[in-house]
This record gives sequence, structure tokens and C-alpha cells, in this order.
Amino acid sequence: MFKHLKAVPGDPLLALIVAHQQDPNPKKVDLGVGVYKDDQGRTPILTSVKKAEAIMVTNEETKAYQGVYGAADFAPLTQTLLLGGDSDVVKQGRIQSSQTPGGTGALKVAADFISANLKGARLFVSDPTWGNHTSIFGSAGVEVVEYPYYDAATNDVRFDEMMAFLDAEMKEGDVLLLHACCHNPTGVDLQLEHWHALTDFVNQRNVLPLIDAAYQGFGDGLDADMAGLRHMAERVPNMLIANSFSKNFGIYRDRCGGLSIIAESAEEARNAFSIVGQAIRANYSMPPAHGATVVYTIMNDPELRRLWESEVTEMRNRINGLRSKMVQKLAASGVSKDFSFIEKQRGMFSYSGLTFEQVRTLRSEYAIYIADTGRMSIAGVSDSNIDYLCESIAKVVG
Ligand code: PMP
Repeated sequence: MFKHLKAVPGDPLLALIVAHQQDPNPKKVDLGVGVYKDDQGRTPILTSVKKAEAIMVTNEETKAYQGVYGAADFAPLTQTLLLGGDSDVVKQGRIQSSQTPGGTGALKVAADFISANLKGARLFVSDPTWGNHTSIFGSAGVEVVEYPYYDAATNDVRFDEMMAFLDAEMKEGDVLLLHACCHNPTGVDLQLEHWHALTDFVNQRNVLPLIDAAYQGFGDGLDADMAGLRHMAERVPNMLIANSFSKNFGIYRDRCGGLSIIAESAEEARNAFSIVGQAIRANYSMPPAHGATVVYTIMNDPELRRLWESEVTEMRNRINGLRSKMVQKLAASGVSKDFSFIEKQRGMFSYSGLTFEQVRTLRSEYAIYIADTGRMSIAGVSDSNIDYLCESIAKVVG
């Protein structure tokens, strides 16, 4: 039955993690993996999460199924986190939200919903984007088109080119995927004025924005990171938001995220949401409860919420602090290239501008593991490896 099947290559990033694990070099550095790490290289469980779990163990009364949308109390919490406490969209009941298994689950449901109900719609994604965007929408039968985004020469967004391309290529009803903040893989974000221009474009062309919010809190703050998304959400008739709680609650393996749908009226939102429910049922039936209960418990306990917010701040400050330190240390090590852009990038990742050859030399000669594209996971930098890392980069770059 399976004789004709040929093995497919695994995810190169996972292969990079394995290669790092197997490397006996004591100085080895892993800048591949996309999870937050502390200065000791651990991905700890947040204290707020541990405390919430203790409460849950005591209070949990059943493991009976929950509904396709997850816990009912979860939707308002997701909406307030994403859109803030004073959103007209929320007040008007124009948004409906479902709990999903991670941001990936939200994107998969969105892809199935689009494929089945918005016939012929194409998905426009940034060049580059998170690789799974293409896989998820491709496997749902949605054509994926890349728009210009990252400019390697300036380490910035090539916004004029992006807008010219979208203007020339996007048709009414197509879907525009934007990263809310902390763009993966580049770390280069849209600025607020870009969101303003994109909002006008969405309204003029009548396209559907799909916002991927996987790193809320990792850029400039829980609210600041949503500024662009909020501007757009309050001014467009329709929007989909796929959000993830994996990073900001550190509950990666518990699989918790959300899919929100904004429509022109409360009734339209309810109707569309009922169809989202069908897509969920046909996918995984209903989401897991544990991660969502953690998030819910934290958000509804003022003390735990304060603790969680301080833990998010700590993670964000560590990453942004490492960005500044790297820029200083690279400059001090006499490297010829200007790396100051690393400090302006946001989130877990940085497109470093290192070439394929430089990345491979760093791997083979210095046991420094960076993705072939030059994407570095900044959380893998620590006080104990930053000098070695920057000196090695300086040697390889010259
Ligand atoms: N979107 C982006 C841009 C991501 O980087 C990720 C996680 N790497 C996700 C979505 C999915 O997150 P989750 O682990 O919650 O499925």
C-alpha cells in the first residue's frame, strides 16, 4: 500500500535543532529554535502559569467535552486582549471569537473557512513569511501569492513596492495576511503609518485582512504591539484575526490560541461564526481545554494577571536588551558591517543579513547554529555566549 511513497525532507529548522543537540562542542550556540529562552537557555514555565495550574487542579470538576468554540468565557477575554477594553467593534457585537489549538489551529480553520466560502480568493503573504502560512493555506486549496516586504539592502520594509504590488495584483475578495507585530522571520514590522495606508487600501479594494498575532507583548508592550491591528480593526468592515497564546503565556505545547471574525453587523458575525464552527468540527471537533483554562484563570485573577504582565515584560526586556547588547558588541569587535538594525527589529527573530556561506561557516567552524536564511532567534543569546557569538560573527563577516 505504501511502497510508492517516498520520504519527504523534514523541516530544516527541526534538523538544525537536532544538529545542535548532537554537537559535542561546549561552546555551541543555538539560534535556530523559535521558543523563548532565559539567560540559562531554559524555557521555563511562567510563575503565573504554575500558580494558575495549582488553582485549576483544585477547582477542576470535569473533563467532559467542551463545545467546538471552547469555553464560552474565553471569547471576551481574547477580544479584550486583542482589541483593548474600549473597542467599538466589541461593543457593537461585530466580533465573534473561538478558542483554537494554538495559532496554527486558528490559521487552519481560517484557511478552511476561506477555501469553502470565499471561492477563488487568493491569500497574499509577505516575502518572506512564516513557512507554515504557505503550507496551511496551500493544503486547504487556497492559492498563495507573495508580496514584496523585506528589503535586505536597508533591513526595512519595502513599503512603496509592497503597496504598488498589492494595488496591481489584489482583487476584491482576496485575503491579505499581515503580521500584527514581531514579524516572523524578519523581525521587521510595519509602522503605524503603514497600517493607516493599508487600512485605506483594504477599504478601497474591498479585500479581507487576516492578521496573525502570534507574539503580542514581545515587541513594545501588550497594547503597543496591537496598535496597528486595532487601528485597522475599528475601520474596516471585515477582518479575521488568528492569535496565539503559545509565546506570551509560554504554553507552547498546551496548544492555545484563538480565531476571531469581524463582520459588518452582529448578525453577519454570528452567521459567519456558525460556519467557522463547522470548519472546526470537521478538523479537530473541539479545542483542548488546559491551556485555555490557564489563560482564563490568570486573566480573571487581578494578582495573577499583574504577575503575568510583569513576566511578559521581563521576557520582552530581555530580548530587546540582548538586541542592544549585540549591536554594541558587534561594533566593538570591529566588524565591517553595520548591524545597528538588529536593535530596531522586534520580537523573537532577526534577519541578520548573514549570507548562506557565512551561516554555514559559523555552523561548521564555530558551532553557532543559525537558519540558512540568516534568521537568528535572539532568545538563544545569553550573557555567557554573547561575546563568543559576536566575536565569531565579526571573524566570519570580516
Ligand atoms: N504565526 C506565526 C507567525 C508564528 O511564528 C507561529 C509560531 N511559530 C504561529 C503562528 C503558530 O503558533 P502556535 O504555536 O500557537 O500554533
